[in-house]
Amino acid sequence: MTRYPRLMPTDPRLFRATVVRSVRTSPSFQRVTIAGADLADFEWSGHDHWFRLFLPPAADVPLQLPAVSGRAWYRRYLEIPEADRPHCSNYTVADYRPAAGPVGAASGAHTGPAGAASGAPAELDIDVVLHWEASGEIAGRVAIWATTTRPGSEVALLDQGPLFDPPADVRGVHLVADETGLPALRGILRSLDERMTGTATIEVPLEGDIEPLEAPAGIRLRWYARGAGHGAGRSHPRAAVAAVPPVAVSPVVAAAVPPVDTVATHPVGAVATPPVGTAPAPGPGRPAATTVAAAPVAVMPGAAALAAVRGGLDLDPGDYAFIVGEASLATEGRRALHRAGLPKSRITFSGYWKHAPAHS
Ligand SMILES: Cc1cc2nc3c(=O)[nH]c(=O)nc-3n(C[C@H](O)[C@H](O)[C@H](O)COP(=O)(O)OP(=O)(O)OC[C@H]3O[C@@H](n4cnc5c(N)ncnc54)[C@H](O)[C@@H]3O)c2cc1C
Repeated sequence: MTRYPRLMPTDPRLFRATVVRSVRTSPSFQRVTIAGADLADFEWSGHDHWFRLFLPPAADVPLQLPAVSGRAWYRRYLEIPEADRPHCSNYTVADYRPAAGPVGAASGAHTGPAGAASGAPAELDIDVVLHWEASGEIAGRVAIWATTTRPGSEVALLDQGPLFDPPADVRGVHLVADETGLPALRGILRSLDERMTGTATIEVPLEGDIEPLEAPAGIRLRWYARGAGHGAGRSHPRAAVAAVPPVAVSPVVAAAVPPVDTVATHPVGAVATPPVGTAPAPGPGRPAATTVAAAPVAVMPGAAALAAVRGGLDLDPGDYAFIVGEASLATEGRRALHRAGLPKSRITFSGYWKHAPAHS
């Protein structure tokens, strides 16, 4: 019998929406904003709230969706003839802005940075990690969609709720992710109680992907940038982590990260970096893209974050850990956390994607 995450809705809803805009927010991230009347009913619970994203199989094919009955949808999905079957992948709500009523009547419990304009429909942001073929072409169905989609394109979401689910007696939290988990960690950090303590370990492809994060003062941020020397802990005023020393991922650290079958050659700096000048102006507090060194570093995605976990986190058995990203990071990281004394019941882990060496 399938075991569902405790917080997954028992009767998840499908939401139709259309693309409003798509912008490059850092060298490795494209933010797609979708909107629609349906989304007004989306009950965003913050944290790592995620969903199944459905895209039309081709630009000229209408979006045909499976019937959803309770939590069951996949068999119906497979019954859709292949030529009409939508593409489906998993994504996190990067931000949500409820529909804005008439002037002076803005509603909802939005906690994000910018509310929707008056009279505007609800909007939801999706931060898509971009990754590249060795040829320099963008790879991955959703990354291609994110960089080519046009306003008005159809999409749909199937609500899946959050995975982050600390026990009631949690003492501290340890969050670990690669770039695919950055939207999840950002959401969790800004949803945490102000008094929470712990760590957040985040690995991104490039230093230009490092961003200020809003987090409780007691959370120590550790950034790792695979392809560009090192990244510093950067924080929003809410966090007292500005004093945390920069964490460097030099080729020396990368070389210390485990052996051959897990350390595939992934020339991130060489192929995954678009010409820096094409990236839009960085957001407030974000390091300028021009500081990104172009030197390639062959390293398995997630390996630096995993090495950091193995290198030791100050764990209390009453802590809770959340570790997501490349499959090896999730499974090996969970093992390391358990060996270090954290009960399995206090670790949520999820392999968000699987690194395929042939793909790099
Ligand atoms: C709960 C959950 C939440 C997620 N949230 C996000 C999110 O907010 N943002 C996000 O970008 N991803 C997120 N992911 C990961 C995302 O679902 C995967 O990266 C997925 O493979 C992308 O879908 P796709 O259809 O483009 O991949 P495909 O077209 O199937 O990918 C083709 C190949 O590309 C490779 N690939 C896939 N993703 C990456 C990557 N990131 N880097 C390098 N190579 C890759 C794989 O080897 C794969 O075989 C999440 C996953 C889960 C389970």
